[in-house]
Amino acid sequence: MPLWVRVSLTGMADSPLDNMLAQMDRAREYVDIPDNIYERLKSPERTQKVSLPVEHDDGHVEVYDGYRCQFDSSRGPYKGGIRYHPGVSMGEVEALAGWMTWKTALVDLPFGGAKGGIVCEPKELSDGEIEQLTRRYTEGIRRMIGPEMDIPAPDINTDARTMAWIMDTYSVYQGYAVPNVVTGKPLEVGGTAGRVEATGRGVTIITEETFQYLDADLEGASVAIQGFGNVGGVAAQLLTERGANVVAVSDVTGGIYDPDGLDIEDVAAHVADGKTFSEYENAKRITNDDLLRLDVNALIPAAIEDVITTDVAEDLRADVVIEAANGPTTFDASSVLVERDVPVVPDILANAGGVIVSYLEWVQNTQQYSWDLEDVNDDLRDRMTMAFDEMVGVYDEKDIPDLRTAAYTIAMERVASAHEYRGLFP
Ligand code: GLU
Repeated sequence: MPLWVRVSLTGMADSPLDNMLAQMDRAREYVDIPDNIYERLKSPERTQKVSLPVEHDDGHVEVYDGYRCQFDSSRGPYKGGIRYHPGVSMGEVEALAGWMTWKTALVDLPFGGAKGGIVCEPKELSDGEIEQLTRRYTEGIRRMIGPEMDIPAPDINTDARTMAWIMDTYSVYQGYAVPNVVTGKPLEVGGTAGRVEATGRGVTIITEETFQYLDADLEGASVAIQGFGNVGGVAAQLLTERGANVVAVSDVTGGIYDPDGLDIEDVAAHVADGKTFSEYENAKRITNDDLLRLDVNALIPAAIEDVITTDVAEDLRADVVIEAANGPTTFDASSVLVERDVPVVPDILANAGGVIVSYLEWVQNTQQYSWDLEDVNDDLRDRMTMAFDEMVGVYDEKDIPDLRTAAYTIAMERVASAHEYRGLFP
């Protein structure tokens, strides 16, 4: 048994950063990367912390912490989203920036990896307070971002509206409009067709590819999805269109379950009304933990990190896990699933649709030319299927124990070669 199956870096519940570094260490057993380069791959190039004073509607000022980590830029400008969440920390942002580095390399985009975040509970803030927070954060990081330097995008609790404020604040300081400083913008200020659905569409494409690879039928297959936001909600709708039976979905208040399949249109209308699943009457209510343990053909975690723990992994009954969230499976849980022979399609591939269409948006902005939805979706499908084929090709050819490790060997090799060619300077 290889060492990594038994021991994680911490030997206990991993932080996302421990998880990401342990995934790298495991993949390194299967890829030849010189020590001098590997040391560089493990350290984020730069992490900036900013203090963000915001005047609330009642006149009091609160100071929030914000971060931007730029993990690696050997292959191109840093790229990655910005999340607003109480669980944001420097370590989490660094882990997420590392995952962006491996994601952009795996799907072969000319980008590096970055991530940002603000420690806050956006549900407790007014729209005006969120706008102020966003503008102050943009001011705080504006010297490190830019169309050729670092290009933010949406992530948890941020959207096209947020990106328009970032674009505006950055542009005001520059003195002219700079649409390609962010992606995921509204169409009116240089957004692309297809960006909002891109991550969920990518998850759907990868689910189709996975079922085909496993010789299983997606038509009629049961699927449980944790989360019903921009990723889980879109994936639920597209998978239903493909004939899958989405039997469970959830939000932070818990899940809903119908073994005969949920009426996804009804569920989407309920969410569009601003209601939570604790108020949904047309299906059985379950907890988020129950959802992860359902006996289904595919489990799609599409919310946050570290939800599939060793405990969950030991009981997990899904035939396959497709990671739509970033880092949903702890390192030790991944090892349990390898031992139990449950395939896990890794986050750095399964959720790469978002950053692929971000790249297409950035290209369109740079060319000052826009594509129609069909061109965007065709390009997305080509890139996702190509990366899937490459990953399973390496998995099948080399004696590699799991798909994540196969994906990491491809990504790490690409980033390592870029470092090798560029050399060490100054
Ligand atoms: N936040 C998304 C992710 O985790 C998208 C990043 C981007 O488009 O730059 O992949």
